[in-house]
Amino acid sequence: MLVLMSSTTTARPGVSPSLSEAPVSAARVAALTGLIRSTTGESRTTRTPFTDQALAEVPVSSLDDVDAAFDAARVAQVRWAGTAVRDRASMLIRLHDLVLAHQGELMDLIQLESGKTRKHAYDEVLHLALTARYYGRRLRHLAGSSRKVGVFPLITQVTVHHVPKGVVGIISPWNYPLTMALADGIPAIAAGNVVVQKPDSQSPLTALAALELLRKAGAPTDVWQMVSGAGSVVGTAIVQQADYICFTGSTATGTGIAKLAAERLVGYSLELGGKNPMIVLPGADVEKAAEGAVGACFSSAGQLCVSIERLYVHDSLYDDFRDAFVRRVSSMSLGASLDWDVDMGSLVSASQLETVTKHVDDAVANGATVVTGGRARPDLGPYFFEPTVLEDVTPAAECFAEETFGPLVSLYRYGSVEEAVELANAGEYGLNASLFGPVPLAKRLAPRIKAGTVNINEGFAATFGSVDAPMGGMRTSGTGRRQGDEGFYRYTETQSVGVQRLVPVAGPAAIPAKPYAAVLTFLLRVLRRTTVRR
Ligand code: NAD
Repeated sequence: MLVLMSSTTTARPGVSPSLSEAPVSAARVAALTGLIRSTTGESRTTRTPFTDQALAEVPVSSLDDVDAAFDAARVAQVRWAGTAVRDRASMLIRLHDLVLAHQGELMDLIQLESGKTRKHAYDEVLHLALTARYYGRRLRHLAGSSRKVGVFPLITQVTVHHVPKGVVGIISPWNYPLTMALADGIPAIAAGNVVVQKPDSQSPLTALAALELLRKAGAPTDVWQMVSGAGSVVGTAIVQQADYICFTGSTATGTGIAKLAAERLVGYSLELGGKNPMIVLPGADVEKAAEGAVGACFSSAGQLCVSIERLYVHDSLYDDFRDAFVRRVSSMSLGASLDWDVDMGSLVSASQLETVTKHVDDAVANGATVVTGGRARPDLGPYFFEPTVLEDVTPAAECFAEETFGPLVSLYRYGSVEEAVELANAGEYGLNASLFGPVPLAKRLAPRIKAGTVNINEGFAATFGSVDAPMGGMRTSGTGRRQGDEGFYRYTETQSVGVQRLVPVAGPAAIPAKPYAAVLTFLLRVLRRTTVRR
């Protein structure tokens, strides 16, 4: 199915419903790309994966542009950190409203830059709005200072503050071009930091449209700046200057960034790859598990860090689950549509198509069977690939342990729950896991799964959508957490301020050290017998 213009397509300001002409108007491209800090006069053409048609000429930033962004950011940060918490919170609530009000154009841009379906683009709108509202509402609590027990009750007063780190560098990927661009930085600016960001070169327009909304919501220009260019050049320059780095991308790039950050002893959070397992437990409802697995494996064509790529099914259910799952997967609709009528969209690029094709061919060469799918679909667009289910995948196959990051899942049988836990925990990654089946059993098993998020009777959305809950990876899937309180405090330094009154902690000058030590020892013994916390 190829639907580039449908009868239900409504008028979109700046975006043409037909890909036969420029999909985004020149005026809109100019307005958005004008937000990039760039003085080079050079540009790079971006293309939509739906048709490989040109989308925009995007200015490239130089190393001088990155330096200028950091200079401006450092000045802006001092002023920004001095603004009232309630004003920053109101700005985030306004952002929530603006994201919902402009969702049409945001979804168009997400789809055009990533090739995903409308419903998967909407997931991003939802996640960004939820994140803005969550931190907007919770900011007073998070940013507030707290009193601690002093070394001498009443005489020593200690208060703990959460002070901003300074300039946060954010490097984001193409697969969730809206929410990965903005959601991570929301708690950063809420805490009084400012941001210098490099969105992925594939998806700058979506990130820029989000930046435009943030500025409309009230963020001053230098509080969030965007630069553009190659990760190895512009990304590295950000990593070399930022006071904290928030990176989302591959484990290989994240490892290099961690090394650079370690040389400067600056903090970082890394959201990296995964080879996420789902276990269908004995007693699971096969139809519900199969339905859940479709969403878990093929959302955004599997180009999702928390996507399921390994499916372990108990012997007693295997045949029924396989039939129910394959029936659903083989009837999924594929296409390039800006409407809500398609189940799965395109891969993002030629290199993604190459990886998926290679993983399928290599698995088959090593003994695997293609149960459904397994083919590229150039008839639909240059990078389409069918949702694919494999069986009999052997450890020799690349896709056995390596992340595919595409619409490819392998089915495996298991005999005992112990074996399933061991299989799920195999490998290097530890991002997300899913358990389908009786909730009490799944809850007992969850703590034994080595993954930062475990979803019961859901693929990934129960945790990813719950923005009050921290989300991130164990093992080589990353370090640090986005979302929740941890997603905020990563951008702050904890500072303790102690006030001493009446006598110094070392004792009054008039009392010699030995009797003072005896008094302190006596006091410690007394306090030990009381309910006073010290
Ligand atoms: P990538 O690491 O190649 O690129 C990600 C970003 O890093 C891009 O903006 C890129 O320009 C930049 N970059 C590249 N090299 C850089 C360098 N040397 N220094 C600084 N920045 C650099 O990743 P990708 O292949 O584009 O994205 C897919 C990967 O991202 C997958 O492995 C996926 O699992 C992971 N991912 C993880 C999450 C998560 O939340 N855990 C979310 C999305 C994607």
